[in-house]
Amino acid sequence: MDRPTTPPLAPTEAAARAADQADPMSGLRTRFHIPAAPDGTEAVYLAGHSLGVQPRDTRDAVLTQLDAWAVAGVEGHFRPGSQWVQADGVMREQAARIVGARPSEVVTMNTLTVNLHLLLASFFRPSGRRTQVIIDAPTFPSDRYAIESQLRHHGLDPAEHLRVMHPREGEATLRTDDLEAAIAEAGDRLALTLFAGVNYATGQVMDIPRLTRATHAVGAIAGWDLAHAAGNVPLSLHDADVDFAVWCTYKYLDSGPGAIAQAFVHERHGSDPSTPRLSGWWGNHPDTRFRMADTFDPGIGADGWKLSNPPILSLAPVAVSLAIFDEVGMTALRDRSQRLTGFLAECLATLAPSATILTPADPAQRGSMLSVRLPDARGTLAALETQGIIADFREPDIIRMAPVPMTNSYLDAWRAAAAVGAALGDTPQTGAASRTGDVPRDPVA
Ligand SMILES: *Cc1c(COP(=O)(O)O)cnc(C)c1O
Repeated sequence: MDRPTTPPLAPTEAAARAADQADPMSGLRTRFHIPAAPDGTEAVYLAGHSLGVQPRDTRDAVLTQLDAWAVAGVEGHFRPGSQWVQADGVMREQAARIVGARPSEVVTMNTLTVNLHLLLASFFRPSGRRTQVIIDAPTFPSDRYAIESQLRHHGLDPAEHLRVMHPREGEATLRTDDLEAAIAEAGDRLALTLFAGVNYATGQVMDIPRLTRATHAVGAIAGWDLAHAAGNVPLSLHDADVDFAVWCTYKYLDSGPGAIAQAFVHERHGSDPSTPRLSGWWGNHPDTRFRMADTFDPGIGADGWKLSNPPILSLAPVAVSLAIFDEVGMTALRDRSQRLTGFLAECLATLAPSATILTPADPAQRGSMLSVRLPDARGTLAALETQGIIADFREPDIIRMAPVPMTNSYLDAWRAAAAVGAALGDTPQTGAASRTGDVPRDPVA
């Protein structure tokens, strides 16, 4: 549950510095490497929604595994200390707490798009009238390609069997009512919905429980892409009765470029050995895995979808990051995230009034990231870069900025908004000055 938000801070540098001083979570930043600005100082890194920063413990964790391999060779699979056969299982409980799942419902494997295909192989099984898929837009291209290729794989034409739900004319984000209406309209022709928990382009948080219920009400399967949701917003996948979900760990979860991804399979399906799946030896039950039997004996839960033995060097950074997220906890992170992002929104409104924030203004409907439409997005981004402020660009005129709660400061948010305003030649809105005297309330009260 989201906690009530504290009153907005004045959008000033002084207020930002005071808030950084007052917040005990400001110190988390020191556990990470912050990328460098052109002048060698720490950048204002607001691209954690795209590639999270590196925890300081990650290098040693990878080196430890290299050393274990050098010293133990094949025995590293079973030696205490390395235990490679269980490398992905160690993260299960932490990951489960981050996404609101039972431990057996989570698996760490492959990458997001690979997992999406594997789970679609299990859960997109069109038959008879029930052939349709509904997805949301803007759609991340990989998700669209995956769905369209799955449809074709089943001999179905996407033009006929795929419905893409766009925001209404003149609106930037989707209405849950419209999605529900489309689901109800598809009725018994609907096989599957695949929506984004947080939209990659607009930052809109979707109502996972409600849309999952609506999908189940017509007898279809609810799959979720949580690439921009995991580690960003609190999730309750088990209680929401989500059928399956996929996410990557290199965005908010700080596990490194191309890091190993994670997936969720509800225990309803995972505990049923007859759930169809594409199988590999590592998905075998651990008790029978090494009997090298000819028949597949699915492991318990989401583990039954694993194909191959885990890539140890690539898993080490995931373990480090998940441990930090689990230690801090999603409730505390969400609380700070709402305050930081609220502050960035306030600073943009005041210091860069010609920027249009597309992300919903309601804190419950957004995560860390704000998507901002600008008169000159490319020029603004280039101007920010020379000052060591890292955001990113999405066609045609949007920059995305995420002050993430683990590593960004209030000062980062203020500096970014001030630089956007300066690049656009905006005149700060009046009204800000009258609030300069505001004192931040204790942020963890
Ligand atoms: C980042 C992202 C992906 C990336 O897919 P990979 O297989 O990890 O390259 C897919 N879908 C969405 C919605 C994303 O945001």
